[in-house]
Parts: sequence; C-alpha cells; structure tokens
Amino acid sequence: MNPFFLIVGAGPAGIGMGILLKQLRIENFGILERDRVGSSFLQWPREMRFITPSFTGQGFGALDLNAISPTTSPAYTLRKEHLSGEDYALYLDLLAEHYDLPIREGVNVNEVVKKENRFIVKTNEGEYEADAVIWATGEFQFPNAAPFPGAEHALHNRYVDSWKNFENGHYVVIGGYESGIDAAVNLVANGNEVTIISAKELHGKEADPSLSLAPYTWERLRKAEQTKRFTIVEKIRVVKIEKKENGYLLFLSNGEQLMTETKPILATGFRSGAEQIQSLFEWGENGKPKLTLYDESTITPNLFLIGPSVAHDQAIFCFIYKFRQRFAVVAKKLVDRYQLPHEEEVFTLYANNQMYLTDLSCCEVKCDC
Ligand SMILES: Cc1cc2nc3c(=O)[nH]c(=O)nc-3n(C[C@H](O)[C@H](O)[C@H](O)COP(=O)(O)OP(=O)(O)OC[C@H]3O[C@@H](n4cnc5c(N)ncnc54)[C@H](O)[C@@H]3O)c2cc1C
Repeated sequence: MNPFFLIVGAGPAGIGMGILLKQLRIENFGILERDRVGSSFLQWPREMRFITPSFTGQGFGALDLNAISPTTSPAYTLRKEHLSGEDYALYLDLLAEHYDLPIREGVNVNEVVKKENRFIVKTNEGEYEADAVIWATGEFQFPNAAPFPGAEHALHNRYVDSWKNFENGHYVVIGGYESGIDAAVNLVANGNEVTIISAKELHGKEADPSLSLAPYTWERLRKAEQTKRFTIVEKIRVVKIEKKENGYLLFLSNGEQLMTETKPILATGFRSGAEQIQSLFEWGENGKPKLTLYDESTITPNLFLIGPSVAHDQAIFCFIYKFRQRFAVVAKKLVDRYQLPHEEEVFTLYANNQMYLTDLSCCEVKCDC
C-alpha cells in the first residue's frame, strides 16, 4: 500500500512537516493552503517583529529558534535577529522551493469527513481523498474577537495593517500579553497615549515564555514607560463595551467605567484553527484539542495536529522552537503504521537538533535565577 497524506496549511508547521516527509523519502503527499505560503506572517502588522531571536547556533546543539528544519537558519539566510512577518514568509517560500514541496495554494479546506478508513477533504476546488490528514492551520487567522459583550465595537490587533495608520490620540489596549504590549509600544512610538488593561499581572513569576513576556518585549516596554504616555492597569478585565455618541464606554471587572474616544484595541489572543473541524476532535478545558501521545485526535484515527494548538498537560507548544519538536513524532507514527522505510539517520538528525521530543515530562520551564 502507498498511502496518501494531506497536510492542511502552509505556515511553519505545514512546511516543516512537508520537509520532514520529503527527507524521509515519502513523496505521496500534498499540502493545501487557502492563501499562499506564509500567509499569516504576511498579514502581521507591518511593525511587528519576532520576539524569539534568530541566531545561527546549529552544529553546537543550538538550532536557530525560528528554524523549522535542521541545517537551516533564518538568521543565516536573512542576516537579521528579530524578523518581520515578511522576512519569515520569505524564509518559508525559500524552503518550499528548495525542498520542492507539493503545495497547492488558493485551496481552502471547507470540510473533512471520515468515510471508513479514508478522509474526504472538501475544498473550493473539489474533493481530495487521503489516508491521513495533518492539520496545520495555526491560530493567527482565528482571532478571539468576541471575548465579552460589545467586543464587536473594538478592533482586534489581527486586523491591523500598520500602527502608523492610527490618528494621533489616546488608545485603550485590552490584553497585556505579547500582542497587547506590541500594540501599545508601537502606538506610543508614534506619539500616542496608551492605557493597557491587563487581566494578568505583568510582573508574574512564570519562567515559561508561553506564560510570561519575552525579554525583547520587556526592553521595548521599559522604553515606552519612559515616555510617560503609557499606563498599565493590571489584574482588571473589561467585561463589556458600549458604543456611545462620543466614543466607547468600557465596563471593568472592579465595577469602574472608562470612556475612550478612539476605538479600543483588542489583544485578546487567538483561537485554534482546529475549530474548523471541531467535531473530529475531543476538546480540553484549555480550548485545545485533546491528543494522543502521537498528537493524533483521540476520536479520529489518522487525523494529526501540528503547530501552536498542540498541548499536553503542562507542555504548551505555542512557539516555533517548541512545536517543531513534534513533527518527527507524527512522522514516526506514520512510518510505523504504514510500514514505510525507516530512515533512521533522518530521525537521528532531528533528535540531534532538538527536533524530536518524545518525553513530555521534560517540559516544565523553571529558572533558578
Ligand atoms: C501575533 C503572533 C506573534 C507570534 N510571534 C512568535 C514569535 O515571535 N516566535 C515564535 O516562535 N512564535 C510566534 N508566534 C507563534 C507562531 O509563530 C505562530 O503560531 C505560527 O505562525 C504557527 O505556525 P502554523 O504553521 O501553525 O500557523 P500559520 O502560520 O498561521 O499557518 C497556517 C496556514 O494555514 C492556512 N489555513 C488555515 N485554514 C485553512 C483551511 N481551512 N484550508 C487551507 N488552508 C488553511 C492559513 O492560510 C495559513 O497559511 C506568534 C503568533 C502570533 C499569533
């Protein structure tokens, strides 16, 4: 049997997985992408930069944090440490071409149905059949845009083209994690005043960058604070927004109200792209699909999830340097299940580059100092 695999999504997860399949000499697969390679990165606000630095550390056991395949490094290719969305989309494009990946752009997957042992993948250009589906649709294109009543009056940061397009004024940013601080420091840099309302305490003690701000963000935050045009209200939630004649009235969790003339900015995060095929997964209380130890759906055999929505207990795989470590786990499962040739040296290459993580008990991030 020569099984056919379909990857849905051509971001770093889909492209990284495709490269690994190629390296394993698996040719019978395709990648479907509704827009174009690196689409999410091309839609980032123009001023946004990677918080994870790029550095060519491979060969000494430290693969570039933003690489999706061993022996590649965006730092080497682009000569930059903090990449823009456009930079990273270029890196993905170069890899797709170099590895000659079988990608079809402009194909939106509308529905996936399991029929006996095969998947019927319904798209805008007809149906595909596959033995296994690897879901790699990310999160950026699925903003958490309705977290409380009246949120439709605000603008989610996912829809911002450039912070330079905002008229000068005072802005309220709702959400104090990476996207919220990014919005705020860019608005401040353009001469605006900003109030951030954050449900979380910014100076929390967590060490895991999935739960706390990155150093790059702290650096920019301190610079913004020096302007005195920057206020943070911590441990308070916005519970409702009402549109008034002269602006927007925000209702806060401490019972207070805040009036602002400009459209509030929502930096309330993202949902899982796996919600597009919600019924094929069981869902955890963390809003993420429940997965087996091989990142396979617990209720739909041969449906795998890769990318930032992968989570196992305390291990959150929301950064590229984290979720890239699970491509080999999925690939190994496919190789074993379909009795494909086992390319041991490829798995060794991935293991030697911290891209093959099987022991999930490893992933508690602690810092003594
Ligand atoms: C604002 C923001 C900043 C981030 N900054 C960093 C950072 O600095 N460092 C870091 O390591 N990580 C960062 N991340 C996390 C990580 O970069 C992203 O999670 C990453 O883009 C995930 O890659 P992906 O391939 O899973 O998803 P994406 O890059 O979003 O790719 C998914 C692809 O799937 C396609 N797609 C979606 N639905 C369908 C469908 N139905 N049919 C066909 N195609 C479909 C989309 O068009 C898209 O191209 C950030 C995330 C966000 C949201």
